[in-house]
Amino acid sequence: MTLQVKKFGGSSVATPEKIRHIAERILASKQPTDRIVVVVSAMGDSTDDLMALAKQCTHKAYGRELDMLLTTGEQVSIALLAMTFIELGQPAISFTGQQAGIQTSRSYGKGRILDINPERVFTALNEGNIVIVAGFQGLADNGDMVTLGRGGSDTTAVALAGALQADVCEIFTDVDGVYTADPRVVPQAFKMKEITYGEMLEMARLGAGVMQPRAVEMGSRYRVPIHVRSTFTETEGTMIQEEYNMEGKQAAIRGVAHDTNVAKVTVLGVDNRPGVAHMIFSYLAKANIDVDMIVQSIRESDDSKTDIVFTIAESDFPQAQEVLEVFKRDHGIKDILYATDVAKVSVVGAGMLGTPGVAADMFGAFADGNINIQIISTSEISISCLIDERDAEKAVALIHARFLESTDAAQ
Ligand code: ASP
Ligand code: MG
Repeated sequence: MTLQVKKFGGSSVATPEKIRHIAERILASKQPTDRIVVVVSAMGDSTDDLMALAKQCTHKAYGRELDMLLTTGEQVSIALLAMTFIELGQPAISFTGQQAGIQTSRSYGKGRILDINPERVFTALNEGNIVIVAGFQGLADNGDMVTLGRGGSDTTAVALAGALQADVCEIFTDVDGVYTADPRVVPQAFKMKEITYGEMLEMARLGAGVMQPRAVEMGSRYRVPIHVRSTFTETEGTMIQEEYNMEGKQAAIRGVAHDTNVAKVTVLGVDNRPGVAHMIFSYLAKANIDVDMIVQSIRESDDSKTDIVFTIAESDFPQAQEVLEVFKRDHGIKDILYATDVAKVSVVGAGMLGTPGVAADMFGAFADGNINIQIISTSEISISCLIDERDAEKAVALIHARFLESTDAAQ
């Protein structure tokens, strides 16, 4: 007997036929004593469609009312999947995030799961149901529905798996695992059999679209093994877990990630004195906007002033611009420049810790491509460079070739 959480993304539930296909697949592999929780996203592109609708009504398409709207997407797919199971003779029940006991912070559009009270889910499982839970949503302590950020159904699934102490959390998607780079950009990219939570978190954080970073974080916190695999084939995908069993132990670099959802902000001519950076970033923090890379530059000619450059998610850009313009007025800032035509390209691998020369090699690939680096940042297991968005794909291909296409890397 096992308890499994299975998550299906929007493309897996895009039509009634696809919904039936996944229901049949789940039933075909289900042992009589297995207990199964299915987490689903909204059908197809319906979250995007809802966003587009909102944008026709307001240019401030974020906040409470947007979450009210977006949470309806998942409510459609859970009900349809439950109906399909029942039609196939399998007892099933659907729950919204709220009904499944998912409690979130109040940050609309990017809620964090604070706690899960899975009592109702357990009861329904014990009564013999397959339980279907709406991804991407929960309830805040003020009684409002809050969404978890794009791709948030992954987080719902992994968090539920943690709360239910599930044996495994399977993430079914339209790719068959985690690749060393986006295969649409690098045809030579290959599927990894396994990857550690730390590396996957870094890959996801740096733009590998396969999974939401918070989901990986949850997996790591609750030690839930995560199996990323294809909705359409039976092939084994990629296991995300604590440690390697086999592959990956020696490689310095495991993957190349890139992210075009990046915007760059340059604050020109701020006073070079203590407290200034604190002030700027407090404005952003109050608006709940994450800042990523930060550089404060030194001016040779005038050291009473400095420029601060930083990056944020391009999706936060309209909101950031709003608060930064207020900051500019409040503090008589000379100018603030904005650029959205930038992208971040990164290499990830726990093995780089003991391997000298990784940064030099990476910059060598940029040099080969005649690509200018605007900002560099590092973590223990990654190096990231901000470059022109139009060079991003070329950069990924060059770096992948350098680090991952030798005969011992490709398995
Ligand atoms: N439906 C939401 C989105 O499109 C959540 C998800 O798919 O995970 O982002
Ligand atoms: Mg961009």
